[in-house]
Amino acid sequence: MPDAAPDPATPPTPDQPSLDVIVSLAKRRGFVFPSSEIYGGFASTWDYGPYGVELKRNVKEQWWRAMVRERPDIVGLDAAILMAPKVWEASGHIQNFTDPLVDCKACKQRFREDQLPNDGRCPNCAAEHSMTESRQFNLMFGTHVGPVQEDAARAFLRPETAQGIFVNFENVLTSTRRRLPFGIAQIGKSFRNEITPGNFTFRTREFEQMEMEFFVQPDSAPEWHERWIDLREQWYLDLGIDPNNLRRDVHPPEKLSHYSAGTTDLQYRFPWGWDELEGIANRTDFDLKTHAEHSGKRLSYFDNDTNEHIVPYVIEPAAGVDRAALAFLIDAYTVEPDEKGNDRTLLKFHPRIAPTQVAVLPLSRNEKLSPLAQDVWTALRPHWITQYDETQSIGRRYRRQDEVGTPLCVTVDFDSLDDQAVTIRERDSQEQVRVPIAGLVDAVRDKLGF
Ligand code: ATP
Repeated sequence: MPDAAPDPATPPTPDQPSLDVIVSLAKRRGFVFPSSEIYGGFASTWDYGPYGVELKRNVKEQWWRAMVRERPDIVGLDAAILMAPKVWEASGHIQNFTDPLVDCKACKQRFREDQLPNDGRCPNCAAEHSMTESRQFNLMFGTHVGPVQEDAARAFLRPETAQGIFVNFENVLTSTRRRLPFGIAQIGKSFRNEITPGNFTFRTREFEQMEMEFFVQPDSAPEWHERWIDLREQWYLDLGIDPNNLRRDVHPPEKLSHYSAGTTDLQYRFPWGWDELEGIANRTDFDLKTHAEHSGKRLSYFDNDTNEHIVPYVIEPAAGVDRAALAFLIDAYTVEPDEKGNDRTLLKFHPRIAPTQVAVLPLSRNEKLSPLAQDVWTALRPHWITQYDETQSIGRRYRRQDEVGTPLCVTVDFDSLDDQAVTIRERDSQEQVRVPIAGLVDAVRDKLGF
């Protein structure tokens, strides 16, 4: 079932693959498998295969590079998934982290009331006015800590990574002696008992988030909010997302969460319509204040200029790793005619996102070629994500690399034995250039850009 009715303003998408095409390529090529498949699968859970895990790692590494390593004002954190239950009382999750749940009396399907179409019909069985009254359903996964299942030991799997950052605000501030503005970034798993998971990896109950809390002087919060919207949008564009498939969605005041003074989502044009990739919110001082109240600890910042304790405002870009990876996969998907007029399927990943960056292909499996090809592979392996493949014809191997989005193939042929040179073939243009093996690492670096 789609997560939301497609946005009527969505332009036609002739250039985009259907979700079925993506799901099937993902399985066939080893990006994403249905979880526990040999037991018939497990509702809306997915496992990332050898290409998927590299894609996801690249997404996270690019985020970490842009948000932490390349910035002077942001540090990282890795907080525990299990936290004191009081955290969720203070944050409002026990009270407010709910979705309105309705059941269709005719077909018994469950829906989120806020995602139903307006025509009064069940999206599953088309029965009219068949929905029950809505009930608020808390999305947090409960669990028990320790061997005895008693109330005192009840805990929750975190539904977002952000709270781990807020409760460590004081620790980070004192241990790193930061001055405002500064940020704390974190990547990690979150869990939500979603009523209607679906659309492949877009909405699942276990997923990974990349969140950053940027603490600022309260009066500078609106300006920083705008700046972070720009920066986050640019991150997707720099990594190759088609600008026509990315847009901003400014939340109207009535749609804002209880903690937010302003939220703008970055949306991607998924095959089912525009949908959220990432939210960038001005969370005000809500979180630090509520944790100060509930914990009895002072969570504030001493402003040397005014000699006053202030509670900073916070700007939060909150992205999903799985959603970003899915958007990169969909955006990269391309079908072009090859030189014979047949369809050539390729994933035009940005080289930094591509799950394999260079493939080494001996022209054929041959005992004379293999040692040299292996040496070439050994020279490339420390620098990039690489692969070696000597099975099947060279044409089929090029196609296979195209279909997993490998930007460069390095072919070792019989001439290589004499001239100590190899051919670099580019995925998108299919152009081939001959380079000496001695200069291969530099030539590849030149072409990939890193
Ligand atoms: P939605 O409205 O789609 O439920 P949200 O607004 O509740 O999402 P946030 O709480 O802002 O989401 O979480 C930040 C990001 O985490 C989202 O933009 C998304 O990329 C990711 N995310 C949230 N829920 C899920 C989920 N169930 N599956 C995969 N990713 C998710």
